Amino acid sequence: MAISPPSAASLYDRVRRVIPPIEWPAFVDDIDAILALKRERNAVILAHNYQTPEIFHCLADIVGDSLALARKAMSVDADVIVLAGVHFMAETAKLLNPGKTVLIPDPGAGCSLADAITASDVRLMRQRYPGVPVVTYVNTSAAVKAESDICCTSGNALAIVESLGAPRVIMLPDEYLAKNIAAQTQVDIIAWKGHCEVHERFTPADIRELREAHPGVTVLAHPECPPEVVAEADFAGSTAAMSDYVGRHKPARVVLMTECSMSDNVAVEHPDVDFVRPCNLCPHMKRITLANIRTALEENRHIVTIDPDVAERARQAVERMLAI
Ligand code: SF4
Repeated sequence: MAISPPSAASLYDRVRRVIPPIEWPAFVDDIDAILALKRERNAVILAHNYQTPEIFHCLADIVGDSLALARKAMSVDADVIVLAGVHFMAETAKLLNPGKTVLIPDPGAGCSLADAITASDVRLMRQRYPGVPVVTYVNTSAAVKAESDICCTSGNALAIVESLGAPRVIMLPDEYLAKNIAAQTQVDIIAWKGHCEVHERFTPADIRELREAHPGVTVLAHPECPPEVVAEADFAGSTAAMSDYVGRHKPARVVLMTECSMSDNVAVEHPDVDFVRPCNLCPHMKRITLANIRTALEENRHIVTIDPDVAERARQAVERMLAI
């Protein structure tokens, strides 16, 4: 018996905890159209943990943090990859699977960290600190990755820094991630002044107020938060690590100090956990919508391209990371 393809109607159960029934009809037409377009175009959708639940749970074929998306992008077999995330993630998918058409539904989906540093900044850092290896966060342009020795994500940054066997490392561009890693290693870390505009807004006072208002709440923070915030949290880790923590420890009540959609997406998987949600929105992630995913597939836009010389060097930095 042939299995009928999923439709929006059959998918609502996945998100009913986080999308009220009254809002759902507004999504149905686009979801059905995108599901059909995926089949027609042999396309897959990769969605970051910060995408809204109707994209994350109803349309995505692959979900995860930057590291998971990078790893899985390598083995995508489909003709087209739609990256529901920000531009550097689409570039990374293109670097790792150059034969595929990679589409970003809104090319303006940037990132304050990626915007914080240029390739010439990295060259200047190398001149200033000759011989010191450069570790670059994946939240950067391909041009910046191309000037780097190796990339890292928030999930593997400590392992990457320590893998180099160097007494001193330049770690770009997230100052807070660099400081949070410096607190866990003997390696001397030289940081840059970039910040994530979502995570830099959390403060230790926020955590103290949350603990007062919700006694016993477990606080998880992303390592892009300032070190004082990480110090007040019960656990700090990448979005994948936070999700894993909730699954393993099943706290009665939890707060994730990160982007808003993360709590919605994790809450869907853990109906027994009470999520407190004082979150911050990422305006870049929220540029990706059902409407522009649909248009991307209908009109084959916006195609991600990377200069071949830049791509070759950037790919090496990402592949060195993935090998560790
Ligand atoms: S949440 Fe922060 S790091 Fe992630 S895309 Fe938005 S600005 Fe960049």
